[in-house]
Amino acid sequence: MSFPISFEFFPPKTPEGAEKLRVVRQALYARKPQFCSVTYGAGGSTQEGTFGVVKAILDEGVDAASHFSCVGATKQTVRAQLQQLKDMGVKRLVALRGDLPSGYGLGGEFHYASDLVTFIRDEFGQDFHIEVAAYPEMHPQARSPEADLQAFLAKVKAGADSAITQYFFNADAFCRFQEDLQKRGVDLPVIPGIMPITGSTQLMRFSDACGAEIPRWIRLRLQGYGDDVASIRAFGLDVVTQMCEDLRRRGAVGLHFYTMNQSAATLAICDRLGL
Ligand code: FAD
Repeated sequence: MSFPISFEFFPPKTPEGAEKLRVVRQALYARKPQFCSVTYGAGGSTQEGTFGVVKAILDEGVDAASHFSCVGATKQTVRAQLQQLKDMGVKRLVALRGDLPSGYGLGGEFHYASDLVTFIRDEFGQDFHIEVAAYPEMHPQARSPEADLQAFLAKVKAGADSAITQYFFNADAFCRFQEDLQKRGVDLPVIPGIMPITGSTQLMRFSDACGAEIPRWIRLRLQGYGDDVASIRAFGLDVVTQMCEDLRRRGAVGLHFYTMNQSAATLAICDRLGL
């Protein structure tokens, strides 16, 4: 069997974005992904767009995972939305807490992703394969690495089937996370989330917000290239490909690409990896 890969998209906001994403999907399908996933705006803000792209992927004959975040939601709405996904033929979910934009009260009936996983298993049994999020470099709001690991283990105990990590640029963090799980007898597959490097400013801003560390030497090299996008991309391709090779050598059982709705950088990495 070929090495499993998967691709993540976000729901486009315009008809032009939707058409562009359709072309991107077709280019990426040639790499035979195990599934493609679609992100979900916290508070249900992208529900229609997310479900629309998920349906398009299924109609194109590819397995689709809908991300699903529960923060701020009621059990009643979550139940109805999950039923809608089930009726569409969705068999795979990425179950998340999510983050409410500032200004929204918390007020919902779910506090953590583990509550959502429990709810899905209680209400829908084994109808869905449930992926959850993992943070090898720790979730930014976690009290401590141990507390974050315990939060992850709670999602496993609640019934998660597998996990996808936040992206990182340090393979050791991922391997250490795997070891921590093994020491606790957890053998759930954890798939590294891979962020291709296509630019510098946005990546740095985004990484600071989500707690992904850009090692100093990578940050300095990226800053040194200034506006030279070609050099940033060539350097990014080298760095990310080498990390993927390292992860495979050290036992990663798949790769999940954050495509950012672009195909070129992800395809270039797959080419180099022979995937
Ligand atoms: P949780 O697992 O609930 O953890 C959230 C925080 O609470 C952590 O700090 C954890 O340590 C802590 N915690 C958990 N349980 C407890 C407890 N019982 N007591 C005390 N503390 C606890 N965001 C989106 O809006 N849409 C998406 O589609 C999306 N997709 C993602 C996909 C992946 C693979 C990843 C890694 C992240 C994604 N995110 C997405 C971001 C995610 O929503 C945020 O990181 C969010 O802040 C946490 O969601 P979670 O499901 O990891 O939360």
